[in-house]
Amino acid sequence: MKLRSIEVVVPPREPHFVGDGFRVHNFIPSGYRLDMRRMDPFIMMDYNSKFYFPPSDKPRGVGVHPHRGFETVTIAYKGKVAHHDSSGGGGVIGEGDVQWMTAASGVLHKEYHEENFSKEGGDFQMVQLWVNLPAKDKMSAPKYQGITNADVNKYKLPDNAGLIDVIAGVYRDAKGPASTFSPVHMMNAKLEAGGGADFSFPKHYNTCLLVIEGSVVVNDTEQVDTNHLVLFENNDSDFTVKANEKAIVLVLSGEPLNEPIAAHGPFVMNTQQEIIQAIDDFNNGKFGVLED
Ligand code: MN
Repeated sequence: MKLRSIEVVVPPREPHFVGDGFRVHNFIPSGYRLDMRRMDPFIMMDYNSKFYFPPSDKPRGVGVHPHRGFETVTIAYKGKVAHHDSSGGGGVIGEGDVQWMTAASGVLHKEYHEENFSKEGGDFQMVQLWVNLPAKDKMSAPKYQGITNADVNKYKLPDNAGLIDVIAGVYRDAKGPASTFSPVHMMNAKLEAGGGADFSFPKHYNTCLLVIEGSVVVNDTEQVDTNHLVLFENNDSDFTVKANEKAIVLVLSGEPLNEPIAAHGPFVMNTQQEIIQAIDDFNNGKFGVLED
């Protein structure tokens, strides 16, 4: 079998804080070879690797801020996070859950550690992705999908190798619950020690994986440790992942939108004019109201 080549294994960058609640390694757009275009439609990836937050009476997080033109997807591995937005979306997600917020024409939102988790403290581990929207959908209505782990479709691998938790797109006959605006595959491979899985996505789909827990061997050749990302070339469809020890791997693949990107902070549009409009609209209160 001919395999999709590994372009590069990217180690985690030095972490920085987003607000006071998210200690993240940025992989996209500041990672090696990972600008906003390379993993199109995935235009941002912040990864809070497993980190212990001590108890706090005041929940840590990020205060009210706007977004327009894309979707924010938060996948929780450890800890609990609460979200509220100005379109009325909101909820709490914990281990195995996903919040999929379509900012589209614009929302204000805030993201905090859930209150009880804050009081008790504990390990916190999350990925936040920004998934770009096609130009025709950037100004559509905001929406919120709260996806619990129970909603996530689980594909049982043969030989007790583990499970594939499908969030979006498909793995074999398991379809993910998230609705997306362009073809996107997003899944967690939860592999037992010695367990393996094959993946196949159209070769022009931009594809990467992030090792959340444990360590794996990719394509039977490359050993990849926890918190490292594998960026694949677009030269073939298939790749294999085998766990050395019990492992969790986030797998992402998406059809590139191949549209112009104009980005400014929390706004990602197609033209500079649309960015100026977004800033104007934000300054004129057109993103709605949300209390701090
Ligand atoms: Mn945000």
